[in-house]
Amino acid sequence: MRVVVTAEQLRQVRREFNGSVGLVPTMGALHAGHLALVAAARDENDVVVASIFVNPTQFAPTEDLSTYPRDLQRDLALLIDAGCDLVFTPTPEVLYPSGFQTYVTVETLSQGLEGARRPGHFRGVATVVAKLFNLIQPHFAYFGQKDAQQVVVIRQMVRDLNLPLEVVVLPTVREADGLALSSRNAYLAGEQRPAAAVLSRALGAAGAAYAAGERHPGVLREQMLALLGAEPLAEAEYVSIADARTLVEQEAPSDNPLLASMAVRVGRTRLIDNLLLPLALNTRAGLGSVLGAAPSGA
Ligand code: AMP
Repeated sequence: MRVVVTAEQLRQVRREFNGSVGLVPTMGALHAGHLALVAAARDENDVVVASIFVNPTQFAPTEDLSTYPRDLQRDLALLIDAGCDLVFTPTPEVLYPSGFQTYVTVETLSQGLEGARRPGHFRGVATVVAKLFNLIQPHFAYFGQKDAQQVVVIRQMVRDLNLPLEVVVLPTVREADGLALSSRNAYLAGEQRPAAAVLSRALGAAGAAYAAGERHPGVLREQMLALLGAEPLAEAEYVSIADARTLVEQEAPSDNPLLASMAVRVGRTRLIDNLLLPLALNTRAGLGSVLGAAPSGA
């Protein structure tokens, strides 16, 4: 496995590759969710590239950029075992040299949900992902359902900018108690860790209600809030039932696919999770057909 830091090194190694290239962009502190993306990329491509970069432009000044978990040596060992061919580990100066001033904004889709609570977040995400796509020139790029709005934003960007690659979306990998794997789970201490399973329990309650025929977004949101409210260590930042294609918050019952999602603080740790409704959509094929898919007829 090669490890490169600069854009020049990356372009040089990229020129040596033949066949299809699969990219897995990450911020490191790798876990089984990331490794599921690498495994799929390994199965489906001649060459697998991972990037590890804690992207400063997607963090607000008040957020956890400086404390975000970093363990490059462990990450590289995991990527060797996963059969990765090349890892790109740029420094902030490599991707944002002094004088940098060009950003990618995916306008409407970046505004709700996470975008409303994290202004500028998706501008940072879209910008860094566009740069990674341009540098690495993958044929396939692998992303997790865990960050559902990110998938929607990136697939829109890929279409709008005619980027020559396909985005693959894989289901969220979870702990045995349902907690979605996340690098930020490392912040959870003591009783916070079991308490954090309340996010997936709340989504599960909405999923069960939906499966039993409930279609009213307000009722589905109430179901989730009731579970979250019963966990003293959890504080909901938002709970959403949105149209899964447009991400527009829903008020009226409908049979269109829905995205149930939330951000919840457990202590100082901000956790997010989501589930597509109906539940059968939470597969690679289902996610790909709904999250960020081109409008029908397009
Ligand atoms: P991050 O390092 O948090 O930027 O995540 C890198 C990629 O891994 C993103 O596409 C995430 O959506 C994905 N990812 C993170 N957590 C999970 C998980 N629990 N299951 C599946 N994919 C995940």
